[in-house]
Amino acid sequence: MGKPTGFKEFTRQTPSERPASERIENWNEFAVQLPVVELQDQGARCMDCGVPFCHTGGLMANMAAGCPVNNLIPEWNDLVYHDLWSEALDRLHKTNNFPEFTGRVCPAPCEGSCVLGIHEPPVTIKNIERAIIDRGFEEGWVVPMPPKQRTGKKVAIIGSGPAGLAAAAQLNQAGHLCTVYERDDRLGGLLMYGIPNMKLEKETVERRLDLLRKEGVEFVTNTEIGKDISADELKNQFDAVVLAVGSTVPNDSSRRHPGETSRESTWRWSSCMVTPKAFWIRIWKMGITFQQLVKTSS
Ligand SMILES: Cc1cc2nc3c(=O)[nH]c(=O)nc-3n(C[C@H](O)[C@H](O)[C@H](O)COP(=O)(O)OP(=O)(O)OC[C@H]3O[C@@H](n4cnc5c(N)ncnc54)[C@H](O)[C@@H]3O)c2cc1C
Ligand code: SF4
Repeated sequence: MGKPTGFKEFTRQTPSERPASERIENWNEFAVQLPVVELQDQGARCMDCGVPFCHTGGLMANMAAGCPVNNLIPEWNDLVYHDLWSEALDRLHKTNNFPEFTGRVCPAPCEGSCVLGIHEPPVTIKNIERAIIDRGFEEGWVVPMPPKQRTGKKVAIIGSGPAGLAAAAQLNQAGHLCTVYERDDRLGGLLMYGIPNMKLEKETVERRLDLLRKEGVEFVTNTEIGKDISADELKNQFDAVVLAVGSTVPNDSSRRHPGETSRESTWRWSSCMVTPKAFWIRIWKMGITFQQLVKTSS
């Protein structure tokens, strides 16, 4: 624990946002990172809990709690407080292949589970995560790390969304030769074609794809498995096949929450109406996708 009194001394600070007059000029990210000293103070707020609920991902009362990839949160909070950013980055990469994505788009169940949150605003975990990896790229600490040895095994990965990319990163590090097949013209799945730029700029996705290429992962776009290449062909050419195809099927709108009428539950999933003429959007229920729609439109 960096500073035993940190959680008493410092209040929670989150990034500011670019002024609206600037934001309407483009679709770029609008969060402005805190200065380094303030990030260190935010790291100092972590209490290094005996039972760090932030770091233990799981379901509590059927709800996601804690970090699903088990990020070593108290450890890198402490390292950031001590200004040891490169060490913090090593710790972050131990559990997370793409912290530059999660530090921007993850809904942060870690913060919802932070013990400090019981009586104070929680530690700004997600923003610290983003600051660590952004600093890593700025300082040139994030470099391609091809595996030292190859196993001679070949793996085909179908789908280039975050699941497929993480599988490729891990299996490539283990020494297997990975080829990722993507039916779209660009790689990244919903990182590329779902999450808007204001939250995740596409250069950020391309930067990681370049690293993966330099580490030896091969990518094939505009190729739909099952149509352009058959499953049997793939099985003959590769030692293993990973399916990471995501879903194009929306949530079942007939599924209801307790007490919800069927009308309400339908609106929950299809509750957005855009009228281009008047440039207004009506939202009935505010899920993550709709928040992004509103932010992109405004
Ligand atoms: C609009 C929108 C906004 C979102 N915002 C957020 C957010 O802010 N934060 C967050 O955490 N999550 C967000 N999500 C959810 C998140 O994007 C998904 O949970 C995540 O991308 C799923 O990853 P995946 O790799 O499983 O699938 P996908 O990202 O869907 O990737 C699957 C890929 O497989 C490809 N594929 C499928 N079948 C084949 C085939 N036969 N051959 C070749 N390729 C194939 C598809 O073309 C696709 O590119 C959002 C989703 C949407 C739609
Ligand atoms: S739960 Fe909060 S205060 Fe406790 S270790 Fe995790 S981030 Fe720090």
